[in-house]
Amino acid sequence: MSGWLYLDGEFVEKENAKVSVYDHGFLYGDGVFEGIRMYSGNIFRLREHLERLYDSAKSIMLDIPHTLEELESIVVETLKRNQLHESAYIRLVVSRGKGDLGLDPFKCPEPSIVVIAEQLTMFPKELYETGIEMVTVPTRRNRPDILSPQVKSLNYLNNILLKLEAYQAGANEALTLNTEGYVAEGSGENIFLIKNGEMFTPPTYIGALEGVTRNAIIEIAEDQGYVVREQPFTRHDVYVADEVFLTGTAAEVVPVVKVDGRVISDGVPGEKTHELLHAFRSIVVKDGVNITNHDHIQVG
Ligand code: PMP
Repeated sequence: MSGWLYLDGEFVEKENAKVSVYDHGFLYGDGVFEGIRMYSGNIFRLREHLERLYDSAKSIMLDIPHTLEELESIVVETLKRNQLHESAYIRLVVSRGKGDLGLDPFKCPEPSIVVIAEQLTMFPKELYETGIEMVTVPTRRNRPDILSPQVKSLNYLNNILLKLEAYQAGANEALTLNTEGYVAEGSGENIFLIKNGEMFTPPTYIGALEGVTRNAIIEIAEDQGYVVREQPFTRHDVYVADEVFLTGTAAEVVPVVKVDGRVISDGVPGEKTHELLHAFRSIVVKDGVNITNHDHIQVG
């Protein structure tokens, strides 16, 4: 855990970084965040991540006291301070800040901003080769009219319950349904199916986050000549798919080989999933904000 992180205008050693117990991010999960990756010195789709962060913040009426360009510089500087020049995972958190014990966000005058950069692999490495197992879990995805899944808020309890229930059932990941019973996503990843040469992913209104990786995979697949259908589907469609995989910044592209005890196709990661993963890996190394060339504003 050694290294430096950005905290409210300065760089502090990770082990000395402290936020107040009165921070409403801590007390109430009141805040927003992004998970971002750098590959070969290029921060993948940094702008898209930051735009989503501002959208999440707008939705909860949280004013981020920086421009997008300033946040970009803070991210770049955090990587450099940690001598991370190749690959890294970046966590950017904006919390409501310090307030009193009441809910009132107007009593929190100053948002708190944290940027952490380090190495992260979400699933054990071998699972990217052999594929993961999913189960349908009892908890349903947050309804968009209650807490929109498009808001990447610090309130991730819904997702944590999903993950916890998947682990309790002995699986690696949760197949998450919305309240109507349609497949939404994983606990922190989007889901894709391939059936008869066509690709399917749930539309975001179903209750799936509009993932940056999801969008990149759709673009890659369409470039490769796939028809990608954003349409609702059920567990049955997952069981009988030729290939299933998940996408996310932390998870990247991970094949799924078993769902609710049903073996997907012949139980090994599909060829098309491999091709897409390969194409994804070759794109991420060139597509993004290069930290060496980044003309950054002085921060911290
Ligand atoms: N769904 C949820 C609930 C997520 O939290 C995430 C991000 N971890 C994703 C999907 C994938 O989004 P992205 O590809 O932008 O990381």
